Amino acid sequence: MVPTDTPGVSSGKKENKMGQRTTDTREVIFDNVHISIRYRLGEGNDGFKIAMMTLDESRPGIGSAAVGIARAAMEVAAAYAKERVQFGKPIAAQQAIQFMLADMAIKVDAARLLCWHAAWLHDNGYRSPKESAIAKCFAGDIAMQVTTDAVQVLGGYGYMKEYPVEKYMRDAKLHQLYEGTNQIQRSVIARHLLG
Ligand SMILES: Cc1cc2nc3c(=O)[nH]c(=O)nc-3n(C[C@H](O)[C@H](O)[C@H](O)COP(=O)(O)OP(=O)(O)OC[C@H]3O[C@@H](n4cnc5c(N)ncnc54)[C@H](O)[C@@H]3O)c2cc1C
Repeated sequence: MVPTDTPGVSSGKKENKMGQRTTDTREVIFDNVHISIRYRLGEGNDGFKIAMMTLDESRPGIGSAAVGIARAAMEVAAAYAKERVQFGKPIAAQQAIQFMLADMAIKVDAARLLCWHAAWLHDNGYRSPKESAIAKCFAGDIAMQVTTDAVQVLGGYGYMKEYPVEKYMRDAKLHQLYEGTNQIQRSVIARHLLG
């Protein structure tokens, strides 16, 4: 652990991000920083292992955030589909739209259960790197798919900032990137499968 008031520790500029713009994201800069041994977590060389173990706990949390974004996008899309009348009937009466909404519901429910499963394992004392990676990866991927489809259901309005789905789409993208990219999640999953 490095206290932020240690000489040599500073932060970079506020990043101008595509999404999740309400959070303040900055580079942390360490310039010739010296800290006391009492700030060391665990014993010598334990640091990487401890850092990796924290991911078992944090990845289901990131997955859950992705589930929330996807659910919100699905709810906006469903409500809009019932209101928007084209060619004499609500677009919700079109099977093409119904199937998109149904696929959203399948993905949201499946992702939510994977996140709960990974969180349950962690809460109950099991080590769960594979399940945490599966939950984060699947939830991040479906959030991107569901929010992109929600923009589609709203048509041109989906692309406008007047409606929230374009924001959900931008926010969803981050969940395929941080806490380890989804390529890295797949590497973790494959390593546990293959040994
Ligand atoms: C908004 C935001 C907030 C963040 N917050 C934090 C934070 O709080 N704390 C923190 O520590 N980090 C944070 N990060 C950093 C984030 O975790 C990294 O950006 C992410 O892990 C990817 O690392 P990278 O950017 O170096 O990409 P790279 O490692 O350069 O990857 C680039 C591409 O190559 C692929 N790739 C790289 N290596 C492999 C491989 N071995 N196999 C297959 N594909 C590979 C990646 O999947 C990706 O597609 C944040 C990032 C963002 C965008």
